[in-house]
Amino acid sequence: MYEGVVQDLIDELGRLPGVGPKSAQRIAFYLLQADEADVRRLVSALTEVKARVRFCQVCGNVAEEDLCRVCRDPRRDASVLCVVEEPKDVVAIERTREFRGRYHVLGGAISPIEGVGPDDLRIRELMTRLASGEVTEIIIATDPNLEGEATATYLARTLKPLGLRITRLASGLPVGGDLEYADEVTLGRAFEGRRLLDA
Ligand code: ZN
Repeated sequence: MYEGVVQDLIDELGRLPGVGPKSAQRIAFYLLQADEADVRRLVSALTEVKARVRFCQVCGNVAEEDLCRVCRDPRRDASVLCVVEEPKDVVAIERTREFRGRYHVLGGAISPIEGVGPDDLRIRELMTRLASGEVTEIIIATDPNLEGEATATYLARTLKPLGLRITRLASGLPVGGDLEYADEVTLGRAFEGRRLLDA
């Protein structure tokens, strides 16, 4: 335990995803020794992102306006919806240039261990979106790991009564991994080879 503000900093850093107590301590001491200007740039990036970035009212992607770049683009195919876990997955898929439809960001994946159930994800918003009948195909692009598979299975079952074409990205993606770490070629192929899901 350190005194006051140093410990506060370590505690705050330790709350970040993927940062354990040891890393939190290392980052805190790095910041203590860093140039004032570097630290100020970091603070300003954090403040700016909270002030300016919001979530798209339609798809849940990050946006600097009410709608994200994809939802604002009239050339994007509104009949195909790609369902992903996080905004970073949108970035990964956009990089492949394989997909011309729109997205729906769930905000996570079903994980009983972490206490995340279907109601914690943007599934209700998805159902509302589908009610207009504009969407005819859903591509489920959740991560190829346990939580992602559980989420895909849940979605396939929930969406089945709507009679849409429901596909899942082809295998070939590194199992147990994270969509964002797949290279563009692999992810692009997974799109082309997506398979029909029957729940
Ligand atoms: Zn959007």
